[in-house]
Amino acid sequence: MQSFVLFISMLFLVSQTAFTQSISEKNLRKHITYLASDKLKGRATGSREERKAADYIAKQFKKIGLTRKGDQGDYFHHFHFKKSSDPHGNVDEKAPQIDSRNVVGYIDNQAEYTIVIGAHYDHLGLGHDRNSLEANPEGKIHNGADDNASGTAGVIELARHLAQNGVREGHNFLFLCFSGEELGLVGSKKFTESPTIDLSKVSFMVNMDMIGRLNTEKRIMVGGVGTAPDFVPTINQLKGDLTVKLDSAGIGPSDHTSFYLKNIPVLFFFTGQHTDYHKPSDDVDKINFSENSNCSNLPSG
Ligand SMILES: [Zn+2]
Repeated sequence: MQSFVLFISMLFLVSQTAFTQSISEKNLRKHITYLASDKLKGRATGSREERKAADYIAKQFKKIGLTRKGDQGDYFHHFHFKKSSDPHGNVDEKAPQIDSRNVVGYIDNQAEYTIVIGAHYDHLGLGHDRNSLEANPEGKIHNGADDNASGTAGVIELARHLAQNGVREGHNFLFLCFSGEELGLVGSKKFTESPTIDLSKVSFMVNMDMIGRLNTEKRIMVGGVGTAPDFVPTINQLKGDLTVKLDSAGIGPSDHTSFYLKNIPVLFFFTGQHTDYHKPSDDVDKINFSENSNCSNLPSG
């Protein structure tokens, strides 16, 4: 996972002259261990534990020194919604309102355009929302280590890397951790409806959803590559020994869809399906933290 996050970071660094910093396995492990702990009870949208997860992410953003880009002068973008009560997505108006927050931080490089780097941090909680694939899910903690503590850790460590690498890249960066994804991409949809930056100045959006299970074939899926002409050649240039499966579609089962629907090019990173998907067994001990990958086709001068 460490080297894979580094690979993603290289997308933004193609014009840099030196590349000395790496992505810390220790930090990735710390974030995923906390977010996917039983203490956070599966981070169900609107729950007390989901608020704790958002507070944790905001604390990391503050430590890293990101600029606050929430809607009230802090790191939070607040949103409210009512859960759909049937499989067709019809909203029950009598249902209680859910209050939730996306977490938003920014690096201002004084550039005209911004790259958005996002991942959802919510998961299935105690399995009460019909999204679990466990036979009798109710009351069991769905820890969601791969889905999507892994992508959340990726956002935090990319933010640290880009904030502290001593390079002023040619883009600004917006780091976004979404909630409400498991209930229908709610947080990302709400953000694109009331963004805290000018979306017409976003050059592309990167989404990481389940990036913690790089297998021995080092196989990754990259979606959205048809949404901008530079994506395929850039990925082919950087992929090193990763086996990359490309998908051109900008619409998929995660938050990049909300941005693509606003005509923003998107890239979606995913290390693949597994038998623990949407089950209480999606735990931190199954995350592949240290898989070494030779994705070092870096510009050297
Ligand atoms: Zn997910």
